[in-house]
Amino acid sequence: MNYSKKTPRDISLNGKKVLVRCDFNVPMKDKTIQDDRRIVSALPTIRYLLEHNAAVILCSHMGRPKGEVNPKYSLAPVAERLSQLLKQEVVLASDVIGESAKAVKAACKPGQAVLLENVRFDAREEKNDPEFAASLAEGVDLFVNDAFGAAHRAHASTEGVSKYLPAYCGFLMERELEVLGSALAAPARPFTAVLGGAKISDKLALIENLLPKCDNILIVGGMSYTFRKALGGNIGTSLCDDSKIDTLKALLEQAKGKIQIPVDTVVADKFDNDADRQTVAAGEIPDGWEGMDIGPATREQFAQVIKNSGTVVWNGPAGVFEMSNFSGGTRAIAQAMADSKAFTIIGGGDSASAVELMGLADKIDHISTGGGASLEFLEGKNLPGVACLEDK
Ligand code: AMP
Repeated sequence: MNYSKKTPRDISLNGKKVLVRCDFNVPMKDKTIQDDRRIVSALPTIRYLLEHNAAVILCSHMGRPKGEVNPKYSLAPVAERLSQLLKQEVVLASDVIGESAKAVKAACKPGQAVLLENVRFDAREEKNDPEFAASLAEGVDLFVNDAFGAAHRAHASTEGVSKYLPAYCGFLMERELEVLGSALAAPARPFTAVLGGAKISDKLALIENLLPKCDNILIVGGMSYTFRKALGGNIGTSLCDDSKIDTLKALLEQAKGKIQIPVDTVVADKFDNDADRQTVAAGEIPDGWEGMDIGPATREQFAQVIKNSGTVVWNGPAGVFEMSNFSGGTRAIAQAMADSKAFTIIGGGDSASAVELMGLADKIDHISTGGGASLEFLEGKNLPGVACLEDK
């Protein structure tokens, strides 16, 4: 796939109406935004369009309202925050393609920005319904997709509208494609991937795509126990997918030492933060005990690899990091990423939250805004919300 896409810098914007798909899916509690980073990171594209005299029609999803209007998922708080940040009023349409949206779009003048209601208030959004997409595009001249976090979905507002409007790449999306694309195509070496999380089945495609590109793959988290079992160790009641053992055996053989798995593990006698715990050698987990985190020797060994790398990509926690007694491995990986001189990339999701919680986000070169999207990108999949944008 070509990741070099035309952006608003490549086109004439003067007096044009531009539909911009953003990812304003911010964490909310009691109609209050808990973290406005996704809104702030959309500002460079929005400001550029406004400064170049475009009329800006913003749209986004929020949460999973399942195709029904639900005030809990209204974008009203986003419109309010955008108004504050842009220092100009951002009017919110009360629907997505109805009378209100039509009127708000028509009234939007160059230099102004408006916001449509949650696109997922209409079931046709996620079905990528052509009529719905055509209505989104109505009265608009151009489409800009800046929602990297939704780019792995072929929905009406991420892909469908590109059938009706010339489609360009927003600046946030551009940066994601540049960073992730060059990590895969021409990484500073050694290139290390740290891959964790619960299920091996979710990460197999990722490991297979990265194996020929990486110098090291460090396996952590729940999925590491299936690897350990494939080598013949005892893993107690740890997470394991027996159906993948043969695949992993073949993968380890093919990897010729590139794949490293934990050498020790923190185990618990039940899945509980207050469980009894001990550190044991990986593959020597007593019966009835469960692997919850990587142990100190693994933390040290993997930190050294991260330190000596040129590029590091991290996706997935090293243990049950939601429980404080089993968050040490994830914290150690986050700290090693922050301390490394390598170009460091975090693929969104839990790893991004861990780094943010630890106050280390500033020390990471790139934290992807899309967990699922960056995963699919690194798996080598085509992202429909990217593929539909005009190539440079
Ligand atoms: P994923 O969604 O696949 O990236 O996995 C993230 C989840 O994996 C987190 O909720 C972690 O608590 C969980 N996880 C990580 N390590 C383990 C483990 N050793 N046992 C059980 N769950 C784990």
